[in-house]
Amino acid sequence: MGDLYLRFSSDLLEEIRNRCDIVDIISEYLHLKPAGKGFKGLCPFHGEKTPSFMVSPEKQLFHCFGCGEGGNVFNFLMKYEKLSFFEAVKMLAKKSGVSLPADEEKENFLHREKERLYKLNNLAANYYRECLFKTDQGKKVINYFKKRGINDTSVEKYRLGYAPSSWDALTNFLKKKGYSYEELIKAGIIRKSKIEGKYIDYFRDRIIFPIFNLSGRVIGFGGRVLDNSLPKYINSPETLVYNKGSALYSLNFAKEDIRKKNYLIVVEGYTDVLVTQQYEFNNVAASLGTALTTKQIDLIKRFTDTVLIAYDADSAGNMATLRSLDLLVRAGLNVKVIDLPQDYDPADFLIKKGEKPFQDLIERSFSLVDYKLKLLCSKYGIKTIEGKVKIIKGIIPTLSVMGNEVELRAQTKKISEELKLSEEAILIELKRYKRGSIDFSSNFIKLNSVPGNVKAEKILIGCMLEKEEIAQDILKKLKKEDFSVPLHRQIVAAIEKILKEDKIVDSQKIIDYLADDSAAKFISKILLEETITFNQKIISGYIDTINNYKLIQEKKNLEKRAKILDEKIKQSEKMDEDDLKELREIVRQLKGQNIN
Ligand SMILES: [Zn+2]
Repeated sequence: MGDLYLRFSSDLLEEIRNRCDIVDIISEYLHLKPAGKGFKGLCPFHGEKTPSFMVSPEKQLFHCFGCGEGGNVFNFLMKYEKLSFFEAVKMLAKKSGVSLPADEEKENFLHREKERLYKLNNLAANYYRECLFKTDQGKKVINYFKKRGINDTSVEKYRLGYAPSSWDALTNFLKKKGYSYEELIKAGIIRKSKIEGKYIDYFRDRIIFPIFNLSGRVIGFGGRVLDNSLPKYINSPETLVYNKGSALYSLNFAKEDIRKKNYLIVVEGYTDVLVTQQYEFNNVAASLGTALTTKQIDLIKRFTDTVLIAYDADSAGNMATLRSLDLLVRAGLNVKVIDLPQDYDPADFLIKKGEKPFQDLIERSFSLVDYKLKLLCSKYGIKTIEGKVKIIKGIIPTLSVMGNEVELRAQTKKISEELKLSEEAILIELKRYKRGSIDFSSNFIKLNSVPGNVKAEKILIGCMLEKEEIAQDILKKLKKEDFSVPLHRQIVAAIEKILKEDKIVDSQKIIDYLADDSAAKFISKILLEETITFNQKIISGYIDTINNYKLIQEKKNLEKRAKILDEKIKQSEKMDEDDLKELREIVRQLKGQNIN
C-alpha cells in the first residue's frame, strides 16, 4: 500500500479526479443508460446480457453487482486498459490537462527501463533481420519460408529474422552499441552459459519471430529450429515487458479486423497466423500453446465476445484442450470450434484447399458444447448407459460455466434429444456437479450467510464512509484491531489516517491511498448498494455485535489455555506454582466476563 500513492500528492490526484467525471470517462468505453440516481450498462469485465454494472456520478464510483469489480475512475482505467496506477493517473492527467511535476515523471524508473528494453528488442529484431538476408545460413531460412507458404509481404510485416549459429554474434553486436551484459540478460537476449560461465546468445541457429504488444512494439522473441531437433520452439524468458501467457501473437495486426467482423480466430502457432492472414483472414491471433490463459482471455474481451478456435484436429480433439476452453465460456465469451480434417492445421488447409473452403468451415463451426458432444459421442457411443454417463460427465463442466440461462436450456434440450435422456436428468446432474465444485454460486451462498460480526463490520465501515461525525463516533468506541477481517482493518486504518489528516472522510482518497484492488471493490460495493439507513440505535447495535464477538473469541482463547494448563498440571508430578497461578487468574477472568 501507499508505495505508488506516494509518487503523487493527494491534492494532485484530487485535482485530476475533479476534472474527470467518472460517467464521462466510462462512457468512452461502454454504453451507459440512466438508471435511478446513476447510470448502468453491460459490464465490460464479465459476460452478461442484462446490465449489472452501475456508475454513480454522486459518489464517483462504479461497481458491477455481477462480478464484483469496482472502484473509482483510476481503478476502472487500470482494469480496462490494463494499466498500473501510475499509468492510469498519467493518462487522466494528460486528458484533463493537469501537468505532472517533471521530477515525479523522471522518478518513474519502470517506465524508463521499459523504454530501454523496447529499444533493445528493436535493435535485436533488426539484427536478426539483417542475418536473414545477408548470411548464407539465412538463405536456408528464406527457402524454408517459401516451402511453408509464407510470402515476402509477411516476412516484412512480421519482421521475421534469423539468429545465426554463433555463440555470441548478437552479444558482441550489442556490446559494441554500449549495452552491458547485465542489461542484455535482463532483456532476455543473452544468458550465462552453465559450463564456462561465458555470456552467450539466447537464440542460436533459429528462425526468429518477434512478438509484439498491442501497439506493435517488440516485447520478446520466439525461435524455431530449422531441422527436427528439440526443443522445436523456445521463447524469450520473462522480462519487464514480456510476460508469458499475457500476449497473443499478432493481435496488434488483428485488432481492426476483429472489430469489423466481431470475432477472433485463435490458432496455435506462428506459421498458422502468417498463412491465415495472407488469405485475408486478418482477424487471427495465436495463443502460442493450446491453453489460453486468463490474461489472454481478458485481452480478447477488449475486442470481441466471439472466439473461433482453429487448432489442428489432434489438439482440438484433445480433452485437456477442450477443458481449457471452458475458461472462455466462463468469461462470457461465445466459443466456436472449427472442425479441421485430420492431419491439417489451418495453414496446411488454406494452402491446399484455399480460401473458400476455409470460409465454409468457419460458417459451419460448432459451438463448444456441440463440438464436445460430437467428440464424446463418437468416443463412447450413445448406445450403452455407460457411454451416456461418460458423455454427460464430459459435457457438464462446460454447461456449468454457461452464464446464459436461455442458451443453457437450449443446449440441455439438444443433448437430451441426442442421448435420449430426460432434460431433467441432465439438469439434476448439473446441479450435483455445481454443488461439488467451487464456483460462483457456492461463493454466493457463502456471502449470504456471513457471520453476524462480519456483516456488522461491513455496515459500520459503510456508515463511516458516509459521514465524518459517525466515523469519529465509531472510532471512539472501536479500535481497528476490533475488526476481525484483515481487509476491514486496513480500510478502518485508512479512514482513521485520512480523517486525522484532512478532517474529512473521502472514499476516493481512501481507495487511492490503499492502492488495493479488493479494497476498491469493497468500498464501491458498499457505497453503491442500496443506501445504508442508519441511526444511533442501529450503529450501537452493530458495535455491540462486534464487541460481543471479541469477548467470545477471548473467552474461547482463555478456555483453550485453561485446558492446556489443566492437562499439564494433571500430568506433572510436581505442582508448578506459576501454572496454578495462571489457571486461577483465567478462571477469575472467565467468571467476570459478561457477554450480552
Ligand atoms: Zn461485471
